[in-house]
Amino acid sequence: MKIIKKINQLNKYISNVSNVGFVPTMGGLHKGHISLIKKSKNISGKTLVSIFVNPTQFDKKKDFLIYPRSLKKDLVKLKKAKVDFVFIPSANEIYFKKRKRKIVINKKYKILCSKFRKGHFEGVLDVIERFIKIINPKFIFFGEKDYQQFFLIKKYFSGKFKTKIILCKTIRDKNKIALSTRNQLLDKSEIKIASLIAKKLISFKSKIRHNIINSNKLNLIKNFINTNYKVKVDYLEIREKNKLSKRFKKNNFKIFIAYHINKIRLIDNF
Ligand code: AMP
Repeated sequence: MKIIKKINQLNKYISNVSNVGFVPTMGGLHKGHISLIKKSKNISGKTLVSIFVNPTQFDKKKDFLIYPRSLKKDLVKLKKAKVDFVFIPSANEIYFKKRKRKIVINKKYKILCSKFRKGHFEGVLDVIERFIKIINPKFIFFGEKDYQQFFLIKKYFSGKFKTKIILCKTIRDKNKIALSTRNQLLDKSEIKIASLIAKKLISFKSKIRHNIINSNKLNLIKNFINTNYKVKVDYLEIREKNKLSKRFKKNNFKIFIAYHINKIRLIDNF
């Protein structure tokens, strides 16, 4: 496994490789990340994982500062997963070149996290575009856990670059919580609450699947979560899966939630 910090070094290793699979991460690796790596190893020639806690996608400085970092452990996991290349650039390396045109997200997509986290997806799209230009991968892999991220990346880049954008399913713990680096910041009782919320929404989804009329109970569920679990819900919404519009049928929707437990913001979708 080659560990690479500089772009020119990276170019030497991968310029002749035509079928690179790229898995962008912010480190703090868990089985969710490993599932993306496995998918890449299945369909790409070589797999490249980046570890870069991208400062421009954090709307709050404190969130960036307390974001869990565990490089040593991450490298052990990546080696075990038989990754070919790990790219660990500095912020200077990535942002050395100024953008010609600012990333602007269409008003109609200023929904869900894009509404609540100002500048977040602009930062994500910026860094992913930079990575695609540097690496020119054949495939790039994203987790369904961050569905809106996948959705916007697909919208903005699927016609622009040759790179195929691949969605990988959400990996959950036994207690149904979606694995997330941020879960490390929760204590036992908070994990319990996150688990109850996930289970509640999984059951809500199956009720809607059974009869769409149940979707009218969305606000009841939101109030229940807000008051019984003492979390602050940013949004709980049902949206059509492919367009993220508000009109959906009983078999083509997703339930999206973002909430704060004791200042830690968690997102999920079902
Ligand atoms: P992050 O390090 O949080 O930026 O995540 C890197 C990639 O891993 C993103 O594409 C995420 O959507 C994906 N990911 C994070 N958690 C999970 C999970 N529980 N299951 C599947 N993919 C995940």
